[in-house]
Amino acid sequence: MAYDRNNIFAKILRGELPSVKVFEDEKTLAFMDIMPATEGHTLVIPKEEAETLFDLSGEGATNLIKTTKRVAMAVKKAFDCPGVMIAQLNGAAAGQTIPHIHVHILPRSQANFSLHGRTRADPGALEALADKIRSQL
Ligand code: AMP
Repeated sequence: MAYDRNNIFAKILRGELPSVKVFEDEKTLAFMDIMPATEGHTLVIPKEEAETLFDLSGEGATNLIKTTKRVAMAVKKAFDCPGVMIAQLNGAAAGQTIPHIHVHILPRSQANFSLHGRTRADPGALEALADKIRSQL
């Protein structure tokens, strides 16, 4: 299927929709999930147009995992969490709701897990959490 240039993350990349940015380089962007599953839930996306992992170039995949590792390490330090879950869903049948490949970084303790994409977080609270991550990059 052709890449949908009007998906939410494509609009965030073009600056047509706001996001709480955590990290950006030439090839990737990390920002706060607007309906987090856990406090500090962060998303990483490539700037390359790709719906799933299967559409992403090898170089794009390398850049995506490098940024994911860097931001996940910052998340771990920022929240001093015992575990960090990394998730990446391909296709609606796997639970993918936005057709631009993204990696979820979820600070985890045994008690704090709930489903993502359900309850909208307060924007000010997201900014404060993003600040904590940025300070560890
Ligand atoms: P997935 O189920 O893997 O496609 O996850 C998509 C994620 O994007 C969900 O966790 C949503 O909460 C998140 N999301 C949806 N819209 C936005 C947005 N405008 N900014 C940040 N995160 C978003």
